[in-house]
Amino acid sequence: MPEKKLEDTVKFAELVSNKQGWELNSDKDFLDSLIAGLTTNWNRYGYYLCPCRDSDGSRKVDADIICPCKYSWADIEEHGHCFCALYMCIGFAASGKEASGIPDRRFS
Ligand code: SF4
Repeated sequence: MPEKKLEDTVKFAELVSNKQGWELNSDKDFLDSLIAGLTTNWNRYGYYLCPCRDSDGSRKVDADIICPCKYSWADIEEHGHCFCALYMCIGFAASGKEASGIPDRRFS
């Protein structure tokens, strides 16, 4: 499988956020670290494993935490941003509020 570069992952994240009507986190350093994590995970596992979670070792078990994860819609609805705070709803992004740690819905 061809390696992904950082710019490939930026395009991916932009496509997802545009399609869903979300915004990417505007904190550039934070965003860069998440993009780097996603890129590393793609090149390590062959899929965009969530950069804030650990792999269980197989795509099948990790399926719910491949970005955009199964929990992102509910998290954005409830908290304004996903677990990693890569994606935000437009209202939250416009509020200027800082993303806070939220519970991992995967284990609730
Ligand atoms: S928490 Fe955010 S970055 Fe992580 S997989 Fe879900 S949508 Fe992607």
